[in-house]
Formats: sequence, C-alpha cells, structure tokens
Amino acid sequence: MMEEHGIIPGRLEVYTGPMKSGKTRQLLLRVDKLPYMNGCDFIFMKPDIDTREPVIKSRFGKLTYDVTYIPHDNPYKILEAVNPEHKLIGLEEAQFFSKGIEDVVEELIERDVNVLVSGLDLDFRGEPFGSMPYLMSIADKVHKFTAVCEYDGCDSPATRTQRLVNGEPARYDEPLVKIGDEEIQGAKNESYEARCLPHHFVPGREEARHKAKIIPLNK
Ligand code: ADP
Ligand code: MG
Repeated sequence: MMEEHGIIPGRLEVYTGPMKSGKTRQLLLRVDKLPYMNGCDFIFMKPDIDTREPVIKSRFGKLTYDVTYIPHDNPYKILEAVNPEHKLIGLEEAQFFSKGIEDVVEELIERDVNVLVSGLDLDFRGEPFGSMPYLMSIADKVHKFTAVCEYDGCDSPATRTQRLVNGEPARYDEPLVKIGDEEIQGAKNESYEARCLPHHFVPGREEARHKAKIIPLNK
C-alpha cells in the first residue's frame, strides 16, 4: 500500500491507530528499501518506557531494526542522537514523549529530515494521547489504521484500545502508564485488546466528564 519508499526531505508522515493496527509494520515497510539506496541513512528512536527489547519489532513479522532509547521526559535528546547523515528518522510510540516532542519534530523537518512518527492516537480512555493530535495536525500525511475487534465474536474494524485489569475494563481514573514499573505491559493482571467503539468500555468516564463539565449535567 505504501507507494513511497525513498526519502522525502522535510516531510512528516504519521502512522496511527489503536494497538495491533499495524503501525509498526507499516513503518518497517516504509523503510524496507532504504538500505539498498545510496545516502539513505536512517535511525529509529523511541521513549524509554519499555526497554526490555532494544529493537523496533512488529507483531507481524521477523523484520526488526535497532532502536535508540530517548528519555520520555526529555525528547530534546533526539536532537543529540541524530547526525547529519540521518536523512530519515523514525519515532516509535511517540504518544509517550512529553510535549517537547512537538518542538523537536518541527526542528527536524525544518532541517529537511524526513520524519516518520508512529503512535497511538487515543489512550485507553478513548481520549487523544499526548502530542499525537499536534503531530497529526502538522503532518504532511497521516495514515490511520484499524485492527480487528477482539471482543468475543465481533471482528469489526477496531479504532480503540481496551485496557483490561484482571480481565475487567480498566476504570477511567487509572493512571495512563505506570512509569517506573518494570512490568508496564507485561504485568500478569493487565492486558490490552483492540476494540471497536461499541465494545470499548471505560467505567467511570461519564461521571468524570460530568465532573469536569465536559458533558453538561442536564444531558
Ligand atoms: P501496532 O504497531 O499497531 O501495535 P504491529 O505492527 O505490531 O501493530 O502488529 C500488527 C499485526 O498484528 C497485524 O498485521 C496482524 O498480523 C497482527 N494482529 C494481532 N492481533 C490483531 C488484531 N486484533 N487485529 C489486527 N491485527 C492483529
Ligand atoms: Mg507498534
């Protein structure tokens, strides 16, 4: 599906959607031919949220690339890790970077780097995740993918990521990520599933939004 396989200076491309929608797979396909082209050096970076496996890897296949970890709360380190030979930079799990990522990406595209960003558009609550809305807005191209809903027998296109704790939907007021907890994604009692909107459940969300006056009380 990707017609582009070269490097397009200063172009920002965003790969987004829920978990398991193929964001990483598409990112890897996008750079697949670059090693065979002259002067097409590239580098992958991701936030240091889950450092157990130092590679970029899709559930889909065996293809992997080395990755450079960047402190999630100091994305400016990206500018130190990149060198003038890098004509393309891929940023994985970009939703976990703090707000400085917006500045950093703008700086890179002004330097004529071809920037590829992948990340979740929505968090487990179904709300915009980190700087992804900003990056999607300034992007030249946004690729939005869907997964297959994992709710019992559904199989509809999934646009949401369901967080489960002990097999039950996580409540709205649970923290987004447990930073510092080694078992962030590997915790035995916690799992994630791709879900369509009707099968995405967030107990406590209506109440929280009423409280924040996002939904008028007389609705
Ligand atoms: P992402 O980076 O978006 O989490 P990956 O590239 O790691 O996605 O994995 C996508 C692949 O995962 C798909 O191509 C498919 O082979 C596999 N997969 C596993 N579960 C599902 C699902 N529920 N819906 C779609 N693809 C799935
Ligand atoms: Mg991925």
